[in-house]
Amino acid sequence: MSMGWKGKQAVVIGAGISGLVAARALSDHFERVVVLERDELPRGATPRPGVPQGKHPHSLLAGGLIALNELFPGFVDSAMQAGGQAADVGADVQVEYPGVSPFPRRRLDTLIVLMSRPQIELVTRTRLEACGNVSLIGGCQHVSILGNPDSLAVTAVFYENREGARQKMLADLVVDASGRGTPTLDFLRNVGLPEPEETVIGVDINYTTALYDVPTTLAPDFKASVTLAEAPEKSRCSCTVLREDGLWFVLLVSRGADRSPANEDAFVAFSQDLPTSTTYDLISRGKRQGKLSRYSFPESRRRHFNRMTAFPRGLVPLGDSVCRLNPVYAHGMTVAAKEAVVLREVLKAHASNYDPLDGVSHDYLQRIESVIDDPWAMSSVLDLIYPHTRGQRPENLRQMIEYQTALSNAATRDPALHKLCVEVRDLVKPASVVHSPEVVKMVKALTA
Ligand SMILES: Cc1cc2nc3c(=O)[nH]c(=O)nc-3n(C[C@H](O)[C@H](O)[C@H](O)COP(=O)(O)OP(=O)(O)OC[C@H]3O[C@@H](n4cnc5c(N)ncnc54)[C@H](O)[C@@H]3O)c2cc1C
Repeated sequence: MSMGWKGKQAVVIGAGISGLVAARALSDHFERVVVLERDELPRGATPRPGVPQGKHPHSLLAGGLIALNELFPGFVDSAMQAGGQAADVGADVQVEYPGVSPFPRRRLDTLIVLMSRPQIELVTRTRLEACGNVSLIGGCQHVSILGNPDSLAVTAVFYENREGARQKMLADLVVDASGRGTPTLDFLRNVGLPEPEETVIGVDINYTTALYDVPTTLAPDFKASVTLAEAPEKSRCSCTVLREDGLWFVLLVSRGADRSPANEDAFVAFSQDLPTSTTYDLISRGKRQGKLSRYSFPESRRRHFNRMTAFPRGLVPLGDSVCRLNPVYAHGMTVAAKEAVVLREVLKAHASNYDPLDGVSHDYLQRIESVIDDPWAMSSVLDLIYPHTRGQRPENLRQMIEYQTALSNAATRDPALHKLCVEVRDLVKPASVVHSPEVVKMVKALTA
């Protein structure tokens, strides 16, 4: 086959952030890409039932922006034109970390974009629609993957359209970007394959978000704030984020049996029970808009499809359908965008092969392990600090936490180390860089 190989048609299940970035990756390698979404897709930036987490703040981290810029050149500009707020994570974000000296606000030239989740999807969808060979179809019910059990290959997708008519769509490749959906697991069962091994960490995170209108004259000098918990004794933490429309997201988070607030009085009381008064100060200057939104996230779940001895040809799970990460660390969309970049690279690497789709799923599933490993390890360590968290505790957990605290303390004193820590946290650099002998030595010297 030549380098110019193009498959006929690829189908993506789900038009969340994973489905959108996956479709972009496929659009270079297939004549036609179709995205099937269960919800009706809104014209504007409005929350929808299939993405209930969309009412809560969603930060796009620097690592995700790099991947999105790679998939959609100029993505950050598109986001800014749609009202997104670019924030320097050192200068514009107030980070409060009990047990660590206050982080000086300093310019680190590492950006995040602050924007509501529906607006992130709208910007991405608009860029995707401009690709020309991608169509998005909303209102698709009962989507299921069809395949050939003998050759273990996907061949088509079935769905019911909004008129209730059953449709069959041929597919050389199917991306499962259904998040909490089960098309991949259902298909594996139908072709007689076992379910993948899973690693689960029970975190029992409780979110309550409210929107506040804060007059600009009374607005704080940051664009976002993060107040971390006094772990492990207390799990309450919060963040505030300026949105594209000038309103402020105020998010209060608790863990386990400590439920997040269900009414305004409890919301205010919770904000007064945080390690600092930053969040309460903001809400006391503003006026609440609309209702409180609540969300419970029971567990982080990683499916090890890469460990399966046999996996269907042409099947590609991506995003939350492979790994759901504790949302507190804001890694999910960044991981999805990085996986889409991997998918595009794998398709490109296979394009000149005799059979370009042979081995694509296998190589993709192996390569995304290195995308997931760091955020999974980062969140696991921080989650396992809490006694109620369910999961396998590594033997050296205490040392890992001690090093993390020392590293953060050292980062408050040294701008280069501060930048390095932020680049690791925001998935720009691998976590291994903060464990190099030079950095370990520097941390010792700065915290002696
Ligand atoms: C409260 C909360 C806050 C978060 N904050 C952040 C953050 O700050 N930063 C960040 O990067 N990440 C954050 N995340 C994680 C982020 O939301 C997810 O990682 C990301 O949305 C994954 O996208 P996805 O497309 O894989 O899944 P989803 O967003 O769940 O989208 C799945 C889509 O598939 C559709 N679908 C499902 N089943 C079917 C089916 N059978 N047929 C057709 N369509 C189907 C759904 O309607 C939906 O549109 C947060 C998560 C939560 C819960």
